[in-house]
Amino acid sequence: MPGNLSFDALKDAATKGEIDTVLVAGIDMQGRLMGKRFHVQNFLDTSWQETHCCNYLLATDMEMNTVQGYKSTSWEAGYGDYVMKADLATLRRIPWLEGTALVLCDLLDHHTHAPVPHSPRAVLKRQVARAKEMGFDVMMATELEFYLFTNSYDSLRESFQRTGQLRDLQTISAHNEDYALFQTTKEEDVMRALRNGLYGAGIPVECSKGEADAGQEEINIRYSDALDTADNHVITKQATKEIAWSKGRSVTFMAKYDHRRAGSSSHVHQSLWSGGTPVFQDTADAHGMSATMKHFLAGQLAHIGDITAFLAPYVNSYKRFTVGMFAPTKAVWSRDNRTAGFRVCGEGTKGVRVECRIGGADLNPYMAMAALLAAGLDGIEKKMPLEPEMKGDMYQSEGARTIPGTLREAAVKMHGSAMLRAAFGADVIDHYHHAAMWEVSEHDRVVTDFELNRLMERA
Ligand code: ADP
Repeated sequence: MPGNLSFDALKDAATKGEIDTVLVAGIDMQGRLMGKRFHVQNFLDTSWQETHCCNYLLATDMEMNTVQGYKSTSWEAGYGDYVMKADLATLRRIPWLEGTALVLCDLLDHHTHAPVPHSPRAVLKRQVARAKEMGFDVMMATELEFYLFTNSYDSLRESFQRTGQLRDLQTISAHNEDYALFQTTKEEDVMRALRNGLYGAGIPVECSKGEADAGQEEINIRYSDALDTADNHVITKQATKEIAWSKGRSVTFMAKYDHRRAGSSSHVHQSLWSGGTPVFQDTADAHGMSATMKHFLAGQLAHIGDITAFLAPYVNSYKRFTVGMFAPTKAVWSRDNRTAGFRVCGEGTKGVRVECRIGGADLNPYMAMAALLAAGLDGIEKKMPLEPEMKGDMYQSEGARTIPGTLREAAVKMHGSAMLRAAFGADVIDHYHHAAMWEVSEHDRVVTDFELNRLMERA
């Protein structure tokens, strides 16, 4: 379901004094909401048509460093503007912020008003349009995991300033809280506010639950068309941070915030439909899977090396792929088996679907879903045969296809991928390859606590 506020309803709410602020947000390479806070009257009078942002928003890293070497923008090119064009279908109330509405934007070229090809929404829209041309509607869902801490962001910053380390993180629970209803009762100040806040923002929350480590949470949103799901994902992350902050708590969506603890994932559920009919279902098949579904899954398996950098975009993301912690290490498929990178769910129902379990909670959902889609559609176009299902404990399966072990390896594969270059455009791949290699080179350059603790006295 898209936004829940029409332009006329916003006018009405402004007149009644219910809404005075409109957040106008684009999506950056990290999948964050970036934009401006408008007075509602200005938005209604002019800014709904367009506003502007510096084009460095698609060329900075997490720290907002002005990374050089991008073709799209640089100091040399003067860091000009993009047009932020509000997509009014995403206009919604934000119940957890007083008097506030939100609208998501497409980023357009300042001069031509053409979509910026490497902007995450444009990348996903292009693959969705390609699927549509092939006769498919794309339905997806992401299951977001994160850790909830009792610390406030302010207290963490103070401790960081004092000690140079984020060492005082206290998870909200002391024990593994997977499905634990008593423990999650204690967390309702944040989680109930999150579920109800999202619901009030027009985001169809299914449920939240405790996850498989101390302080770990999961939030599930009902599946929808791919663009809608990516929009819901980024708003959900923003909501989680804002609501936790408002309660004096903090959260992290890092894929692996502590090597001793389970990582946080963002599993992606995927199915194709045609005019309301599930294209993936074939009741005559032994597993209820249609030929199209098998080709789609075969494409994702074949191209997993190429697309992993979009499922795991940081050096840290790869630390999640460890044996025995529910995160996969092997890119194989299986039915209802949580040790495989790809799991077939909803077998025998019209909801039969592919769940990709490789992505971390740190992924940019537009890029991850576009990459999965590009790989799957290539499988359909080439009628790729599906390899036999793997059974048992996939962590121990010798010789099975592995997920790239580092961002460096994944970035090289992404860069050399003819499939991705054809699907996204060569410039888009070069752009994201540059971003990935910047992450690698920063990590190579910086001395970490691990090195200091290990080597200072004994090296
Ligand atoms: P799990 O066993 O992983 O908990 P759930 O039944 O909770 O599975 O569903 C997980 C996610 O899959 C939910 O977000 C749900 O909306 C989504 N989902 C259900 N059916 C489909 C479908 N046909 N296509 C894509 N996603 C779907």
